[in-house]
Amino acid sequence: MQLPSRFIHSLRGLPGFDEAAFIDLHHSEAQVTSVRINPCKISEIPFTRGHTSVPWSRYGHYLSPRPSFTFDPLFHAGCYYVQEASSMFLEQALQQGADLSRPLKVLDLCAAPGGKTTHIQSLLPANSLLVSNEVIRSRTAVLKDNVIKWGAHNVAVTNNDPADFSVLPGFFDVIIVDAPCSGSGLFRRDPEAIGEWSEGSVELCSRRQQRILADVLPALKEGGTLVYSTCSYSKEEDEYILKWLAEAMDLEGIELATDPRWGIVPVKEGTAFGYRFWPHRLEGEGFFMGAFRKKAVTGKPERYRPVNKTLSGKETVALSRWILMEGLRFVAFGGRIYSWPEALYESFDLLAQKMKVLYSGVLTGELIRNKLIPDHALALSGLLPGQVIRAGLSRETAIRYLQRKEIDPEGLQTGWQVAAFAGQPLGWMNVLPNRINNYYPKELRILKERAPDE
Ligand code: SAM
Repeated sequence: MQLPSRFIHSLRGLPGFDEAAFIDLHHSEAQVTSVRINPCKISEIPFTRGHTSVPWSRYGHYLSPRPSFTFDPLFHAGCYYVQEASSMFLEQALQQGADLSRPLKVLDLCAAPGGKTTHIQSLLPANSLLVSNEVIRSRTAVLKDNVIKWGAHNVAVTNNDPADFSVLPGFFDVIIVDAPCSGSGLFRRDPEAIGEWSEGSVELCSRRQQRILADVLPALKEGGTLVYSTCSYSKEEDEYILKWLAEAMDLEGIELATDPRWGIVPVKEGTAFGYRFWPHRLEGEGFFMGAFRKKAVTGKPERYRPVNKTLSGKETVALSRWILMEGLRFVAFGGRIYSWPEALYESFDLLAQKMKVLYSGVLTGELIRNKLIPDHALALSGLLPGQVIRAGLSRETAIRYLQRKEIDPEGLQTGWQVAAFAGQPLGWMNVLPNRINNYYPKELRILKERAPDE
């Protein structure tokens, strides 16, 4: 791995940079694997071999050796997310920089593929709203799949430009901008990205980061929290942006307490505070984060007028067999029924009117002549009532199910049911006397054949 000399030169003088250790690490084969568990689905890490905690996240764990995630049904059930450890520091920014004792409205502006979104979802108090936005349309599919897999009910996935959020002035309590960046922090994982690095691209990213932040800031409430992060080491994308946020955007820096044993390097830039993660100082990739409070707000809050209609009594009755209905309201969009938490109805409705919403709440299914065809998202949502049949599959059969291969119906009850592994729903199937119709989504199926050691 050859790191460009101009890149190394640009890092000299940054606090915590140790040139020899940094270069050695990039020449070594060492890789760090970490996952974050989904507290809505499991309470303990489902790996028996070698795991240790990520010190700055209660849900994060390092794994050694790296297991095969593809052939673990619990991965597909959304029991954990494979995420780089440094990024889990977001947990500290939210815990220390926001008031998690009351419901919040949160925007994750640059959200695909969903690492931070699923993490935020696990940290938010009940009745909070999470808007998970991704401007690049082709990247929204994976984001939506991950939100569904996580089993969240309180997330709206949107496909908007940062500037579009200005129609919601002062709407959000917290905005997270995990900005597109020059990506140097991930060189160890993705050596091909090294070839794309240049001082010009750092400059370009820095200007784009400012534009994104300036565009979205009107949507932050007075007293609200902004969290900014990159996976770049460059000061133009890190310290300079903090300084600009404090001075030009008039934000107040929030200092976060860190344990010196964690190896994170705190930096102070004027009145702003930043936290840099060097892979030669801790177990994680290169990362940078800063948190701010907004002092004042401009623009009037949005007035809400209801638009979307909920279902009729008869239609709602048809759903009761399939979903735990308490605290939910049901809305139809083009024949598809979405379940929205009652407490978020107004926010979801407002978003549906103002933004390009691709997904919200839980896609429950399609109603055809007052009968529900349940959707995959419902199976993973944790909202299934007791009367829905759950077929407990062995690991081997669960993998076959996830590959959409034939499964022997022998010993299974007939009818529509959830295919489950270790009590965790994977998706729907219809068991007929002599065959099984597998409703696991084609686009999610495991394509790989299993190697003998996996
Ligand atoms: N937060 C994500 C996670 O934890 O999984 C990773 C986000 S990645 C660092 C940055 C994201 O910003 C990408 O998904 C990219 O498509 C998006 N992006 C690119 N250009 C953008 C722009 N001009 N405005 C907003 N987002 C942009």
